[in-house]
Amino acid sequence: MNEFYDVCIIGGGVVGCAAAMALSKYDLRVMVIEKEEDVCSGTSKANSAIVHAGFDAVPGTLKAKMNVRGAELIRQLSKTLDFPYRQNGSLVLCFDEHDMPKLNELYERGIKNGVSELSIISGNEARALEPALSGKVVAALLAKSAGIVCPFGMTYAFAENAASNGVQFRFLTEVKDVRSDGGKYIINTDKGEINAKSVVNAAGVYSDKIHNAVSDDKIKVIARRGEYVLLDREVGDLVSHTIFQLPGKYGKGVLVSPTVHGNLIVGPSADDIDDKDDTETTAAATAIVKETALLSVPSIPYNKTITGFSGVRAHLETGDFIISEIKDGFYDAAGIESPGLTAAPAIGEYLAELIAKKCGAEQKKNYINTRKGIPHVSELPPDERTRLIKQNPKYGNIICRCESVSEGEIVDAIKRVPGAVSLDGVKRRVRQGMGRCQAGFCTPAAIAVLARELGIPEEQVTKNRPGSEQIKESL
Ligand SMILES: Cc1cc2nc3c(=O)[nH]c(=O)nc-3n(C[C@H](O)[C@H](O)[C@H](O)COP(=O)(O)OP(=O)(O)OC[C@H]3O[C@@H](n4cnc5c(N)ncnc54)[C@H](O)[C@@H]3O)c2cc1C
Repeated sequence: MNEFYDVCIIGGGVVGCAAAMALSKYDLRVMVIEKEEDVCSGTSKANSAIVHAGFDAVPGTLKAKMNVRGAELIRQLSKTLDFPYRQNGSLVLCFDEHDMPKLNELYERGIKNGVSELSIISGNEARALEPALSGKVVAALLAKSAGIVCPFGMTYAFAENAASNGVQFRFLTEVKDVRSDGGKYIINTDKGEINAKSVVNAAGVYSDKIHNAVSDDKIKVIARRGEYVLLDREVGDLVSHTIFQLPGKYGKGVLVSPTVHGNLIVGPSADDIDDKDDTETTAAATAIVKETALLSVPSIPYNKTITGFSGVRAHLETGDFIISEIKDGFYDAAGIESPGLTAAPAIGEYLAELIAKKCGAEQKKNYINTRKGIPHVSELPPDERTRLIKQNPKYGNIICRCESVSEGEIVDAIKRVPGAVSLDGVKRRVRQGMGRCQAGFCTPAAIAVLARELGIPEEQVTKNRPGSEQIKESL
């Protein structure tokens, strides 16, 4: 493999895919290089899924600017690219009159950052909005513009839109080194060399490694793990807003929130770890998360927990994102910790404008600005559902009973571009295995569909990357 592209993006997380989507508006040959088997396989798959209003970041920082613009873009894009988003609003709780200056500071920051519909309300007003809140809440910051999103759905929407506009994706390809060579970059991967005029570093927790390969100004990403508890949909309406506490030393603290799919999410913790890929969950962090969340909402029914998971933040000592051209034609999107999910489309837009201007690239005339998501058949109106099942009986064959996911939807997930090639890819696209039984019942049927559609034996179907096969070859 020795190919040439105008732009190579290293990393297929939400930031890399947002950059790919934004760049695909221009007449440029763009490639996304991802070391895993699918997009949305890193931090973008494991976070709180909150579209932050933008009052937390320090005014003037890139975090503040990208957060507010990103939240605005997500509201628009959720409609044109058809991914799940809900503007549910958020509350930051204050439990002690002495902490009111901290709450006021967040309000002031929000105003400076340009956040609309912000107000400080009393404890009683907060409880009128959210009856499950603790009686100890004395005041709260209400941000009506905050929202919740499906982080997978949004990343796939960006990737599919980019692909429909000509962006190529290369999976299971790890970038080992990048070096500049007479006006271009040579990207050395474990599958050979790729040449590009420009490079975007969107490698998440590994963005320091990619940055340091080309820059003398070294950076270090601190891997900061956050653990969560996810509760059954039966209790997803315990609160309707996202409930934060006043932020602490390690960030925004423990939240309680509904998800766009109707679950209740509680977390995250914040622990610095040595192994950037260590997404284990621990009894200690789970206990802290559970106990802290009870301060906000004392009635959380933890007996309805269906799973726990963790994600790793890419934290930089400076506390801000790095989004700039650090060398001629080499662009960083490094240290993109929270609110990186919210900020992603703004980061993509910003980088694409920089790159297109530098390359003198024109906007495409035939650019496609829409994308249709995979229909969740069981949620369609009865007439439409019946019509679809008549057209394709696979939509009537329910494979995942907890989330009512049909065989037809799984086939759709596999046929998308980029499509699912693993169980996790299917799960994140159509929610097969996301429900109460956590894939306990539907995995064999999903493996059979993947094997049939990919034309491989069931023994070769993986959970995610090669080596994660679920069925042992018979002797
Ligand atoms: C606990 C937690 C809670 C959070 N909550 C929120 C929230 O509620 N709202 C919000 O806005 N943000 C939140 N965030 C932040 C948000 O999730 C991240 O900022 C965002 O997902 C980062 O996206 P990314 O594309 O930069 O990184 P990633 O999603 O990690 O993508 C980077 C990709 O690069 C690939 N890669 C790495 N090295 C190489 C290589 N050498 N070659 C090829 N590919 C490579 C990886 O496999 C990965 O797929 C949270 C983060 C955490 C951890």
